[in-house]
Amino acid sequence: MENRPDREHNTTDRAEKRRIPILYLVVPCYNEEEVIEKSALVMGDKLKKLGREGKIAAGSKVMFVNDGSRDRTLRLLHEIADRDAMFSVVSLSGNYGHQSAILAGMMMARKYADAVVTIDADLQQDIEALDQFLASYMSGSDVVYGVRNDRHSDGIFKKGTATAYYKLMHLLGSNVMANHADYRLMSRKALDALAEYKETNLFLRGLIPTMGFPSDVVYFDVKAREAGHSKYTFSKMMTLALDGITSMSVRPLRMIAVLGFIFFLFFGGVGVTVIVDWVQGNNVPGYTTTLLVSLLTGGVTLISLGIIGEYVGKIYMETKHRPRYLIDTFVWKEENAEEK
Ligand code: UDP
Ligand code: MG
Repeated sequence: MENRPDREHNTTDRAEKRRIPILYLVVPCYNEEEVIEKSALVMGDKLKKLGREGKIAAGSKVMFVNDGSRDRTLRLLHEIADRDAMFSVVSLSGNYGHQSAILAGMMMARKYADAVVTIDADLQQDIEALDQFLASYMSGSDVVYGVRNDRHSDGIFKKGTATAYYKLMHLLGSNVMANHADYRLMSRKALDALAEYKETNLFLRGLIPTMGFPSDVVYFDVKAREAGHSKYTFSKMMTLALDGITSMSVRPLRMIAVLGFIFFLFFGGVGVTVIVDWVQGNNVPGYTTTLLVSLLTGGVTLISLGIIGEYVGKIYMETKHRPRYLIDTFVWKEENAEEK
């Protein structure tokens, strides 16, 4: 967080002339058997249309990332890729989670593409926004964030928790973009830069804005899920939320120190009154004070240990330098001319 580059300096050479890009759509899929055929259809059609309109170059593809699905998703994906070379499939060796799945896809796609857009498999994010993403890329943006217009399609609970979460993140000093959920375009240059970040605790939404390339925002409408149900369980959501905070900010650690100081002052005050009482000979039983003090210190100590433990755990995981995902199979076919 602290060494964020000054973005003012990075918007100067936007004039650089860009070629029509080879675009890859990176689509993470975890148990998406109900929706995947439909999604492939819609995404494939959109790419073909963009190709006809001269907005993307030949060789653009949809790259699915199977994130260890336990249903028929992988089989369906292979069928789709067999039918049409426009579809490619990266299959991970297990369920690594949404963030790692899109990272795997982006890292694979950057070998072929000039620009990559990550989009969910459930068609919730309006695919028509691609035109604006591309326009912004052509005028020099290296990162384009898709930001949702509203949260109509979410329940009260998700809406409320999301808003509170973004507030908390900002309070803790992380400049995540509110209502941006990994629907995002990145140029190859930005992806190559992202490849240099080796952290295991990956929170792309927080990390990418700190990279400082020319960036832009595109607004889009969110629809209800095409089919199936959300793959973000409550615990997956909590993990993402916690990762977001602890991987982007050390402020909670500092807050412990501040709390410690406040308690030190408070207990100092209590200590003085107790001594004054003793000197004056008022040896009151003092049951309440004793109990309060030990309850408070106990509670605060435990919370603090918990927060420190969270960071120690993160450090432990980082020091292992484990790969963030492993690829099991990869399907990618050259498109031949007559298929166009
Ligand atoms: N996803 C994934 N791995 C997971 C969970 C989800 O790759 O462990 C994918 C999922 O298939 C979808 C995207 O991440 O393409 C977003 O998930 P979902 O739509 O279920 O989340 P929501 O929109 O409800 O937040
Ligand atoms: Mg969704």
